[in-house]
Formats: sequence, structure tokens, C-alpha cells
Amino acid sequence: MQNTERRFSEVKWHSVSIDSTLEQLQTSTTGLTQADASLRLAAYGPNRLPQIARRNSLIRFLQHFHNILIYVLIGSAVVTAVLSHWVDSGVILAVVIANAIIGYIQEGKAEQAMDAIRHMLAPRANVIRDGERITIDGEQLAPGDIVLLEAGDKVPADLKLLTAHSLLVQEAILTGESVPVEKFTQAVDEGAPLGDRSCMAYSGTLVACGQGKGVVVATGAGTEIGQISGLLSEVETLTTPLVEQMGVFAKWLTMMILFIAAVLLVFGYFVSHYDFTEMFMAVVGLSVAAIPEGLPAVLTITLAIGVQAMARRNAIVRRLPAIETLGSVSVICTDKTGTLTRNEMMVASVITNQHFFTLEGSGYAPSGALKLDEAYVSPSEHTILEELARAAALCNDAALREHSGVWVVEGDPMEGALLAFSEKVDVDSRREQINWTRTDSIPFDARHRFMATLNHDHDGHACIFVKGAPEQVLAMCTDQMGANGAVEELDIAYWTKHAERIAALGQRVLAFADKTVALQHTVLEHSDVKGSLTMLGMVGMIDPPRAEAITAITECRGAGIRVKMITGDHSQTAAAIGEQIGLENTATVLTGTEIDALDDLALRQAVLGCDIFARTSPEHKLRLVMALQSHGMTVAMTGDGVNDAPALKRADAGIAMGRKGSEAAKEAAELVLADDNFASIVAAVREGRTVYDNFKKVISWTLPTNAGEAMTIVVALLLGMTLPVTPIQILWINLITAITLGVALAFEPTEKNTMRRPPRARHEPLLTGELVWHVVLVSILFLCGVFGIYHYAIDRGYSVELARTIALNTLVVMEIFHLFFIRNIYSTSLTWQAVRGTKVMWVVIVVITVAQFAITYLPPLQAVFATEAVPLLDGLLIVGVGTALFAIIELEKQMRLTYRRMREV
Ligand code: ADP
Ligand code: MG
Repeated sequence: MQNTERRFSEVKWHSVSIDSTLEQLQTSTTGLTQADASLRLAAYGPNRLPQIARRNSLIRFLQHFHNILIYVLIGSAVVTAVLSHWVDSGVILAVVIANAIIGYIQEGKAEQAMDAIRHMLAPRANVIRDGERITIDGEQLAPGDIVLLEAGDKVPADLKLLTAHSLLVQEAILTGESVPVEKFTQAVDEGAPLGDRSCMAYSGTLVACGQGKGVVVATGAGTEIGQISGLLSEVETLTTPLVEQMGVFAKWLTMMILFIAAVLLVFGYFVSHYDFTEMFMAVVGLSVAAIPEGLPAVLTITLAIGVQAMARRNAIVRRLPAIETLGSVSVICTDKTGTLTRNEMMVASVITNQHFFTLEGSGYAPSGALKLDEAYVSPSEHTILEELARAAALCNDAALREHSGVWVVEGDPMEGALLAFSEKVDVDSRREQINWTRTDSIPFDARHRFMATLNHDHDGHACIFVKGAPEQVLAMCTDQMGANGAVEELDIAYWTKHAERIAALGQRVLAFADKTVALQHTVLEHSDVKGSLTMLGMVGMIDPPRAEAITAITECRGAGIRVKMITGDHSQTAAAIGEQIGLENTATVLTGTEIDALDDLALRQAVLGCDIFARTSPEHKLRLVMALQSHGMTVAMTGDGVNDAPALKRADAGIAMGRKGSEAAKEAAELVLADDNFASIVAAVREGRTVYDNFKKVISWTLPTNAGEAMTIVVALLLGMTLPVTPIQILWINLITAITLGVALAFEPTEKNTMRRPPRARHEPLLTGELVWHVVLVSILFLCGVFGIYHYAIDRGYSVELARTIALNTLVVMEIFHLFFIRNIYSTSLTWQAVRGTKVMWVVIVVITVAQFAITYLPPLQAVFATEAVPLLDGLLIVGVGTALFAIIELEKQMRLTYRRMREV
């Protein structure tokens, strides 16, 4: 194999004929066998680009020391060491290390989150193995595999094309050319440049249109893209605009604080004539207290936890800023099939020129009885069913397979249902496909809503088969198939009536038609199918709604989020399903044609009052997004096809389907749903809101804490008083709280009423007036608490050391109570649920309590931090101060919430 491997990479496949290609690769159009594929995979390695090796964890840890604040701190540690204040330098260094640890945790969390995503976004490939069409992981491809391509696919490996039907491929990633190029199967000149090798489809390029089939000639690093980039795994950094802004904010704040500190140092030394060492320590303590050094890292942890939570709920975030947008979504525009419904189709009704049959069965199993007027009948009594079933079997790209007793579909579930239907009326779909070779096809496109194939049999017949939306197919027909094969006049009213009748049951209606053509006919053009077909009949397919979608829609209503269904399906079907899943306005349905008749202004007015849009094509989605955005709404839009990409890009949150969605849609989207489920969108919105809330919580806790500590020092210095808490004690508090309380809020679960609040305004700033007020209020309360208890202690005749120990503990206790308050910024904190808190919360509280007891009562630590044991009663008083703080801010919040509610009423 080694030899052949080297030889393969040297072959100029674009100049080799198809037959020779297949021969050299030792494969055929029926594909490799599974066994052969595994052997080749073992020899050539998986089809993926080599990953960048992870940096050594020690180096990664050390990198967290590269930051201005850390340099300032290390400088201070050196100065204090020079001044022989060993303890101080020790504590400063501990702060430095703690900071690096938080950064390291943050990075680990971020990496875990990105891994979870990367794993779930792994592309899949449709291949033929053992003569059967199956879907496998793109990584499992080996040279010689036969790959099927269709519009929207990302080419999974370098392919030599075996067939190409109006195949257009966008190769910008390789050639920089953004206009898709047409592909053929004829070999080209050996010296042709990459962009002109029209018989090849290269890994990483996107199929814009058409269908094709190719044989894998190179995988992984051997592909063209692999040779160019070598390493694809561009490392995306985990950040969003808000986190970035906070990072910038924190940087400027740091600068300002360092400047103030320097001024204070000069002022204290030259004007107030403080001792330099004392002044220096005070200024270092002040800087460490005031600078929110851990804030950006903690926000990133919050984000990473959000990404992971979303991934667990099957929502994969491709672009991280989407997390913020998702939290503010005010309208979700969703597909119907597969998103609101299960996309598990089964043909339940069949309509021919005379009869209305019903069909029984379960799932895709090819057995089930046929009924006419409540009586069982045999399919052989109605020959027209055979014609219909043949069309269903031939105008079809799916395959059914039995998997330990369960029948599963490869390909479109709707087409799978058609295969099961043909078996149920005793037409062997596999044999029909062998007897009638497909020579050409027009693939289904949401724009024209039909699919056509041209098939030849071995007895000199050629026939076009068409399936599609009833209106579409009827418009292409001139006559209809009557009993015993006679052709009769087309009765449009009859078909329309029945189509609406089954659509009103919520069934998806599909019509079939055919046309005999001359044997020489081998290329299928759109003109071949216009206005000359014979209508065969229609089928109605059930596709039950997803139970969880119904719940999710109710949840959206509570959360002030509108839900709109945008579907290519019939308006009656759409309305019936809309009714079943509980959409608000099911009375009005706007169809694509009606939308076309409206100008942008009229559409703007119509869009709010209508929740169901039927028979739409992808272009309508774009207009609908813009109409909704013009009302200031934040729009989430789902999509799956290639043509949905513009709407997905334009939407505030573009959401692609992970299963049935094309790679093109996924690339355009911010979010990919692993399970195509509407409920996952709502879960993502909930997580988006949670992340935003937690950002707010982390900031609301950190800023007043820092400000309170810093102000304590500044006020004392400016008023020339003894410091109520020494600089080294401030360093201690910072050290211990930053690694405990500071991180705990990142792990906060969703608040109970998160989905009962209206969405936040689109551009609401993170630092709202309310938050700034909170920072001011709490800082002042901290200041009062610390000075108050310090003076109380001095008044009681306690030593300065004891008074300081009491003040120090008060500060920590107030921070803990403040943390409990912050956990519920939108509702009351006085519920059992709120008090019980999270595990993380209690772990950090236990840690911090133990640490505080240690510093207060352990003699060695007492010596280092100049603390004294606090009497029991004063200990209770400390907790009392914390409780008082809590009571004040909780009352203030309740007043604010009530006031807001009063204003809303
Ligand atoms: P949806 O919004 O339900 O996904 P689609 O755009 O997929 O709607 O389909 C719209 C209509 O086009 C369907 O109601 C059906 O009549 C027709 N249709 C869908 N898929 C195919 C197909 N593979 N072949 C022919 N017609 C199709
Ligand atoms: Mg569809």
C-alpha cells in the first residue's frame, strides 16, 4: 500500500479518463466493500487535516503571567522583598499565582467548550459502499470510495467526477473565485491550473447547485486544501463583543487605578509625610483591590459554560457572538418539516383519478394494508397504483435499509416514505430502479418545488417522471391517467379539491406525473417537463408534530418571543400543523405568491399579524427577516438549503439544521442544531439569556466588591485615619475571594423566571444605569459596614489589631451575602431554591469560611496577618452586619421590581 500511496499522490487525476481512474484506484461505480474500505482507511489514515499539537500545559500556565497587572505585582513583590517585608511579597506572589490559576481554568474551560463543538460539527458524506447508498463520517472516507454530491454539500475529499448534472461548485476556498464553476466529467489537459480542472471536485469546496458523483482520489493531508493549508485547525478564541468590551474596559480601569495609585503614593509621601514603606504597601493593596484582574477570565468561563450547556442541548454555536444575540431574540422564524414536525413521514392517503385510498403501516416498514372506503382492497385491482408507485420509486434518491428489524432511511425521509409506499402496493422499487436506468435528472429545488428524472428501460423505452407540489405538477400537465392506462382530460378542479382535503388533515401532499419520450432523448431540460405531462395521482404523507415543540412554543409565548412558521408546504397543511402545535395566529396564512404581491412597506405591516407563511421560497425568507428587523426585532431564522444562506446571514441569529441541513447553510449560520429540533432553539435562547444574566451577575458582584475595598483604603488615606484593614489583609481578601466567590457566579444555572421575562432590548448595554447604581450603592454600604464596625470595635476599647480583624471578617461576610443577593437579580432571593444555591456556591463558601477561621484563629497566620481571635458575640455581630446589608439591597431590589411592574401595568 505504501507504494501505491506515493503513486496515487503523483497521478494527475484531472487528465485521466474515468475508466482508468477506477481501475487504478481498484474500485468501481458500485463502490468499495466495507472490508476493503476499512483496510484502505487503515493504510491511508483518516480523512482529516492534521491538528495543531496542543501546547505543553506548563507553557500554557506560564503564559498567564504575561500581563501588565502581573508585571506590576511582580515589581511590587520585588520592592517589598527589598524592603524585607517577606510576608507581603509572599502574599503578593500568591495573588499572582491565583490569577494565573484562574486564567488557566478559563483556558481549559474554553478548550473543552470548543472541543464539544468541533466534535459535533464533523461533516458527513454520502457514499456508495457494497452497492448501497449510506451516510458516513467524512473522516471515514478512503481513496476509491464513491461519493454522492448534491446542492449544498461540502465536498468531503478530492474527487474525480463520474457524473455531473448541472453541477456548480464554489471553489473560493482554493482558487479565491467566488463565482461557482460548472463541472463536467471529461478529463482536461494535464497542465490545467486548479481552477480549470472541471472534472474534479476538491475537498472543502461547496456544491452550489446540481448533483454529481465522484470517486475519492485523495484524502486528509493529501488533498489540495490539505497541501495548501497543511493545518486547518485555526484556533478560534472564545470571546464575544461584550466580553471583549469588558476586557478593554478592565484594561483602561487598570491604567486609571495605577495612575491614581501613583498619585496617591506621591501625595502620601510628600504631602502627608507617611512612611514610604507603609505608603507603598497601601498603594499596592489599593491597586490589587481595585483592579478587576480576574473579570475578563471569569466572563470567558461564563461563556464557555454557556457554549457547553448549549452543546448539551444540541445547539452548536458556530460563531460565539451569537450567544449574546440568542439571549435577545424576540422572534423565531422556523421551518416546519423536521423542526416542528418529526420528519418521520408515512404515506397515508393516495388519490387517483377516481379513488381516495388510505394506507396503513408503521414507520418505513414496507408493509401495510390498502383501504378503499373502509374496506381492504388489493393493489392489483387498481393498475394505476402501479404507475404511481413506479414514478415514486424512480423519481427518488433515497434508500431504505433494515437495521435489526427497524427500517431506516438514507436520504430524504419523504422519499423514504415513497419507497415504502411503492412496496406496499406491490411494486419492487429496487427492481424498477434496475430496469429503468436513470439517464438524467432535475433535482428538487425549493424554488420550483418539483423533481424530475429521465429513465430508460432495456426494451427501448424512455420516460420522464416528475414529482412535486400539486399546483406545480398540475401546471405542467395536459392530461391525466385514467383507469386501465387510458389517458383522459385533466380535471384540475378534482385534483385541487382533493389536494386541499388531504392538506387540511395536516398531510404533506405530493403529485406525480410522467411522460413518454423518444429513446434518443438523454438530456433532461426544464422545457421537457413544461406543459406536456400526464398526471398520475397524488399521495398525502403524515408527519406528526414533535411533542417537545409544542411545549417549547408555549415557553416562547411566556418569554415574549413570537414564533413564525415559514414553510414550502401547502398553506392548508401548514395551517393544520400550526394549529396542532399551538401557533398564535393560525387564521391567516400568507403564501409566497401573496408576499410577492406586497411591496416592502406592505410586507412590513402584514408581517406582524401573520404567523404562518406557506409555499414560500428561500428568497421570501430574506424579505421576511428584513421586514421583521425593521420593527426593531431580533430575528432568529432557520434554514437548511443552499438558497437559505442569504437569509441566515441576514438574520440576527441564523440557525442551520445539523441533520438535514446542507453544509452551505451551516457555514452561513451562527448556530447549528444537532437534532433539527425547534425545542433546541428555545433551549439555546434560554442558555443565551442565562449567559447574559451571568455576565451581569459576575460584573455586578465584582465591581462593587473591588470598589468597596479600594474606597476603604482611599478614604482612610485621604482623611489621614488608621487603615481599618491593612494592605496585606486586603491582598488576602482579594486572593481568597477571587479564586472562590469571584468564579462561582459563572456557574449559576438559569434563573427560574428567565423565560418569563420579555426579551431584552436589542442594543441594551451591559453597564446599564441600574447596574452603575448598584455598584455605587453597594460600594457605599461596604464602606459604611467596614468603617462602622471598626469604630464600634475601637469604641469598645479593642486593640487596633482586633478591630481590624473584625473589619476584615465583616468585609468577607458582606461579600458572601452580596453573592447570595446577586444570584437572583430578577426575582426574590428569599425562596428555598435561592437559599439552597448551587454546589459550586456552597463549596466556595465552605472554603472561604475555613480560610477566614484560619486567618482569625490560627496563631501562625495571626502572626503573619496581624490578626487576633474574635470573640463569639462579635462574630455574631459580623454576620448581623452581612444580614443587614442583604436586607437593605434586597428591599431596594424589591422596591425597584415592584415599581417596574407598576409602570408596566
Ligand atoms: P418545507 O418547508 O416543509 O421543508 P420544502 O421546501 O422542503 O418545504 O418543500 C415544499 C414542497 O415541495 C413540498 O410541500 C412538496 O410538495 C415539494 N417537495 C419537497 N421535497 C420534494 C422532493 N424531493 N421532490 C419533489 N417535490 C418535493
Ligand atoms: Mg424541506
